[in-house]
Amino acid sequence: MRMQLIYPRWPKLERQTEFHLPPHGPVVFAACVPREVTLEFTDENLEAIDFDRGADLAAISVMLTAQLPRAFEIAAEFRQRKIPVIMGGIAVMLHSQEAALHADAVFLGEAEGRFEQVVDDFHRGQLRRCYDYMNDPPDIATVGIARRDLLKRDLYNYRGVQMLDLVHASRGCKFNCFPCCTGFLGGKRFRPRPVQKVIEEMETIHNNRLFIVDNSLAQDRQWLKELFTAMAPLRKKWVSHPILDDDEILKLAADAGAWYVYQAVFDTSEVIRRRIRRLRDHGICVEGTIILGTDDQDEDAIKRLVDFLLEVELDVAEFTILTPFPHSPIRRRMELEGRILSNDWNRYTADKVVFQPKKMSPVRLQELYYYAWDTFYAGGGHQLKMGELFKRVVKREMEDGTYHRFDPKRSRTFRKETRVVKR
Ligand code: SF4
Repeated sequence: MRMQLIYPRWPKLERQTEFHLPPHGPVVFAACVPREVTLEFTDENLEAIDFDRGADLAAISVMLTAQLPRAFEIAAEFRQRKIPVIMGGIAVMLHSQEAALHADAVFLGEAEGRFEQVVDDFHRGQLRRCYDYMNDPPDIATVGIARRDLLKRDLYNYRGVQMLDLVHASRGCKFNCFPCCTGFLGGKRFRPRPVQKVIEEMETIHNNRLFIVDNSLAQDRQWLKELFTAMAPLRKKWVSHPILDDDEILKLAADAGAWYVYQAVFDTSEVIRRRIRRLRDHGICVEGTIILGTDDQDEDAIKRLVDFLLEVELDVAEFTILTPFPHSPIRRRMELEGRILSNDWNRYTADKVVFQPKKMSPVRLQELYYYAWDTFYAGGGHQLKMGELFKRVVKREMEDGTYHRFDPKRSRTFRKETRVVKR
């Protein structure tokens, strides 16, 4: 059996440098596909889909709401060619009813130990319309090593700089932040993988630079201690979402190679200022993730926030506009208040206003989004600040002897015929 596995293209934030990280969802899913299935993976962000290559089944992995319209077009292309389509991934869980209209089957939930059934049903000509495991997560210890061998690694570099490989050490999140869908998707219970399994997976990754994509590394102190202690000998350099704000944990994280963290900056308080300072004191850089358009923000508050980011000399900032994604707490509230202005998923890119802000007009919020990017980066663009971050990691790698120059010809999956799509 041959299966094409497709990751649809999606637009980057306006004003942000365009680079592409190797996708994580498709390769984690691929590890759940029985080995007798021949898998061919296409990341449409970087290469064109060959619809005529043929396949018995097409699987479309969709992470973002903004990928959905393109995923539906791709599904139609395959189905026109009489190739059945199954869709899965985070965005399909969020939009399951709509996705089901465009696919022969939808897969909801986590795939470990479950995809064998789908393949069996397919062979018997009895593919079900919906495989729903949303409320029945598998044992986290059964999560296997992601199939990174499917990635064409030479594609994932930015001007010759090796991008990061994505890996996860846990699922779920015990917090319930207002703009976030994680509680619905991965459950409100923190589910850490056994540390030894995570380390085994990291050891298989040839790249020295990782992005630990866990929702939050601030959920279980003891597990974090064990994880960071076990990671230190690997000498990887890594990026993550917030780490527990605790000196002992931050020191262990730094010793384990923490390079920079994505830190939500939602106000100008001393708490945030201290958190940024503490990360810096441990030699960890900070990329602020800043949501604009929350109900407590007026125009002055957004301008003060941008001034604050400059004052604390954040290494990099990523501004987005609050977006009421389905199944997030904020969506429920805005629906009750009649404030959703658009359900065009092409606009759910987190850089467009799709709701009625509380303290300004939608047009003014859109202008302030551009103001924030342009003001923060007035002294040098996003590309330049990202370059500074990478210079720091190269310096650290040179100091500890882990630096190696990116050479696509050494890549095991380098293929000359690969065509990079210019969009
Ligand atoms: S924003 Fe992060 S910490 Fe908050 S609920 Fe979502 S994943 Fe958890």
